[in-house]
Parts: sequence; C-alpha cells; structure tokens
Amino acid sequence: MLGTQLARRKVAVIGAGLVGATSAYAMIISGMCSELVMIDVNKDRARGEMLDLMHGASFVKPVKITAGDYKDAANADIVLIAAGANQKPGENRLDLVIRNTEVFKEIIPRICAVCPDALLLVVTNPVDILTWVTLKVSGFHPSRVIGSGTVLDSSRFRRVLSDYLGLAAISVHAHIIGEHGDTEVPVWSLANVAGVPLAEFKRTVGNNIQPLDKDRLFWEVKNAANEIISGKGATYYAIGLAVRRIMEAVLRDENSILTVSSLLEGVHGISGVCLSLPSIVNASGVSGVLELPIDDGERQQLLRSAETIKSVIDGLKL
Ligand code: NAD
Repeated sequence: MLGTQLARRKVAVIGAGLVGATSAYAMIISGMCSELVMIDVNKDRARGEMLDLMHGASFVKPVKITAGDYKDAANADIVLIAAGANQKPGENRLDLVIRNTEVFKEIIPRICAVCPDALLLVVTNPVDILTWVTLKVSGFHPSRVIGSGTVLDSSRFRRVLSDYLGLAAISVHAHIIGEHGDTEVPVWSLANVAGVPLAEFKRTVGNNIQPLDKDRLFWEVKNAANEIISGKGATYYAIGLAVRRIMEAVLRDENSILTVSSLLEGVHGISGVCLSLPSIVNASGVSGVLELPIDDGERQQLLRSAETIKSVIDGLKL
C-alpha cells in the first residue's frame, strides 16, 4: 500500500510542459513527495524545469528533483502523464485523440517496464480516452489507472456556484460528471450547501440571491478552458492544483471522493469506458465509483456522454 510508505514518495512526471511543470510546482510546494523525476522527449525543457524547481529548495520541504530518462522513473509510486499535444484555439479536446494516442502507444510501455507497480495518473487530453488507452496498453489493474477527469471541471462548477451564492467554494458541494469535454454533465439535482439543496438555500438564507440561471452558470464552467486558451494559449494552474489534490488523496491513502476518470463496469449501466463519477480515491487508486441518485434528464446526458467516448474508443487502433 502506497499510504504506508511514508518515508519515501517518488513521483515521475512524463511531459515536462506547462501542465507537467505546474503540477510539479504544486506538488513541491505542498511537500507531498520526497523525489520528483521530470521526463520529456525535449530533454532541454525537462532539465530547464528541473533546475527552476530545484532552485526553490530552501523554501520547501526537502525533495530530490531530477530530470532524466525512463530508467530514472524506476519504482515511482505515481506516474503523472502530461505528455502530448494541447488544444490550439478553436480545437476541442477530441481533436487531439489521434496525435496523443500515438504518443501514449510509445510512452506507456516504457513506463510499465520500469514502474510495474505504480499508479498511473493521466492528464493529457482527451483525458477519458487516453485513460482508457493507458489501461489497455499497460494491462494494469483498472483501479491503478486514473484520469484527472472532471476534478478540474467540478472545481470550476463549485467556484461559479460560490460566486452566485456568496459562499466559499469549499462549502459548495457540486459535481460535474461524464466526459471531461463537451458532453460533461452538471449535477444540478444534487448540488447543495451543508446538505441544503440550492433552491432551498436561496429560500431560507439567500433572499438577495439572483434567480438561478443554470444555462449561463454551466456555460461559464464548460467554456472556461476555451476562454483561458484564447487569452493566454493554455490552461495549467488550476489543473496543477487538481493534480496535486488527486496525488495527495493517493499518497495519504485518504478515501476522499473525487470525480476522477476510471473504467466503469456497470455503474449507471455503463461499461467499458473511462469517465468521471464521484469515486473513492486512496492508496490503491480508485477503490469504488458511486452510482448517484441523479434525475432522469441527468442520467440521459450521462449515457450520451458515455456513448460519445465509446464511439471514439471504438475507432482507435491500438
Ligand atoms: P505542452 O506542450 O506545454 O507540454 C507537453 C509536453 O509533452 C511537451 O514538453 C512535449 O515535449 C512533451 N511530449 C510530447 N511528446 C512526448 C513524448 N513522446 N514523450 C515525452 N514527452 C513528450 O502542453 P501542456 O499545456 O502541458 O498540455 C499537456 C496536455 O495536458 C495536453 O494534452 C492538454 O490538453 C492537457 N490538459 C489537460 C487538462 C485536464 O483537465 N485534463 C487541463 C489542461 C491541459
């Protein structure tokens, strides 16, 4: 069990680009790992990021940071996979599938050769499809192959709702499920504050709150990546924090509920695809996926999301 190895926690980052490096930065700030290895096909980039991170050594908990090759990732507890192309303005996440599947067919066997017992955390987009590709190419147990899924989208949803309600995001409980992408589903029916449904909250406490415009609020969530990409070319801070949060749940054996992406086998009648539902995350990876008491409309949207992912998977040549 990873959670028992408190003395040594090794993380390998494959793809030292904006997401890989920002995730590494978030990890070293939180002091969660004792060893961090940066690997990239562009060795200069990995070395540059390694040096930049390393020069903060006197401000963070001790951590050995190196840049290297796959052999240097040997015996990592978690391998973060952030290698591959990112979205260009006007592209959606599914546009990346062919390019990044080819990258994964090359890197996953190399990771498995040196880290046969690691947990694999996929961030590269389209993340649900590439989590499935990672699962198939690695042959690892499904609990040990996780995608960041809609952890970021759920955080965006909670942030948007927190603005609307005038509360801290941490006190708003709401989830985005399904694909991390255009078919993602906001679970309005279960969104709550301290167990109080949103509409009830407005009635009892929030007299001054504007009428709930679900379409507008969800559009803000769904369009967030496009808005950021059109402004600065890429998204990386919030996903870096999302990665840190998932890593923490694994390394601390937390049994936390996070909307990571993992293989579904019958939950909500969905099988054979990776997508996000609230899941129990601990040292063994995903140890359970929750079937939610969502309403019929949300269930139909979730099934449509699963079908979208399935249709892409069915067209892949592995
Ligand atoms: P980036 O271009 O800055 O970095 C990608 C890195 O991958 C580059 O350094 C590149 O050299 C490296 N790479 C490419 N092929 C490789 C290979 N075969 N082996 C090793 N390294 C290789 O891109 P980024 O902005 O860091 O984005 C990385 C991925 O993360 C993209 O697919 C992006 O869409 C995705 N992303 C996902 C989320 C999410 O919520 N899941 C959020 C933001 C970005």
